[in-house]
Amino acid sequence: MRYLIARYHEIALKRGNRWRFTAQLRQNLKSAFADCPLGAMRGEGPRLLVELPDSVDDATARERAALVFGIENFSIAHETALDIEAVRRKALEVARQYPARSFRVESRRTDKRFPLTSMEINRIVGADIKGELGLAVDLEKAELTITVELLRDAAFVAAGRHRGAGGLPVGVSGRAMALLSGGIDSPVAAFRMMKRGLRLDFVHFHSYPLVSSASRDKAEDLAASLTRYQSHSALVLVPFAPVQREIVARAPRPLRVILYRRFMIRIAEALAQRSGAKALVTGESLGQVASQTLDNITVIDRAASLPILRPLVGMDKNEIVEQARRLGTFETSILPDQDCCSLFVPAHPETHAEQAEVEAAEAAFDVGAMVAQAVAASESVTRFFPAASGQL
Ligand code: ATP
Ligand code: MG
Repeated sequence: MRYLIARYHEIALKRGNRWRFTAQLRQNLKSAFADCPLGAMRGEGPRLLVELPDSVDDATARERAALVFGIENFSIAHETALDIEAVRRKALEVARQYPARSFRVESRRTDKRFPLTSMEINRIVGADIKGELGLAVDLEKAELTITVELLRDAAFVAAGRHRGAGGLPVGVSGRAMALLSGGIDSPVAAFRMMKRGLRLDFVHFHSYPLVSSASRDKAEDLAASLTRYQSHSALVLVPFAPVQREIVARAPRPLRVILYRRFMIRIAEALAQRSGAKALVTGESLGQVASQTLDNITVIDRAASLPILRPLVGMDKNEIVEQARRLGTFETSILPDQDCCSLFVPAHPETHAEQAEVEAAEAAFDVGAMVAQAVAASESVTRFFPAASGQL
């Protein structure tokens, strides 16, 4: 039998409520394989053993397991008897499947009653592979690492460990609403908060038909990329042009951007209330652009009653870009579009807005009605990963 052995790290540090984290992890793993169901699962120490049916090939198992937060690293392992002869045969069989010139063996015993030490197992299994397959031992930079894990009732042999997504299982921290522009920053911000266990829904503000639908299309693509980490999500598309028209008609020019932002926050909050989200997430980074000075962030915060989480606040642009590349959202983010916020924006926006000044400008609006209208005009698209699981 093949197994996915998922090892966790941060969850293992939890004490009283660890079961809640592991239960969520199991559920999220099942969802990630919804179109090719997994077999039985059992926990053993800081790891989860999951039976892999034949319908799940190694590549699919690797690809999907890497998308599940809460897993520090994992292997695709072959089960065998707790017996050195069985382990030797299995290790040879596994090593044979992977063309490599050099190798090493890494053994671990959780049950110290096993008659051989880890070092002895490494030596015995290593000698077999070297002798039978002619591979060279390389303890530093081996092309193939054969791992042997001796657990309570069985031994597991695998070709190496794969890095997991880390973090905490999506859902253990509750729900939040992420403001997703078509830009580079907000998808990275969303990713980082999902990694801390938040389940996200997304909201995108667009000025279609004043501008093309490019930003909306990008937001849909980005939401799809991010949904791979959490099985399903809603993307709410909010027409923002009516709000912008009012602001442009009635408020002082330099305050436009800050007012756009405060309205976005209020609308996002109203949407958050409908979905039970307990926080908002944005991709703001201190000082990156005019709207992200400390003064402006302060004034934006005051439009909110939910906490606004800004995981990128202390990151440089190049650090964010690097993460966007790793996440695979960068290429979509840099496609040309016209963000709604760039519309009617003055050359010199206010960088140090004052609360009183902003409130005075907003006195010209029926804020509640504008928010309600935007919410009523919004449309929501639900997306699933794997795609087919929406129909299951
Ligand atoms: P990004 O790369 O995420 O677009 P940015 O550097 O362009 O960020 P801003 O345009 O000031 O910065 O936007 C700050 C944050 O406000 C964004 O990260 C996003 O969370 C939110 N935001 C901005 N525009 C939109 C939009 N059209 N729809 C939804 N959220 C938006
Ligand atoms: Mg932007």
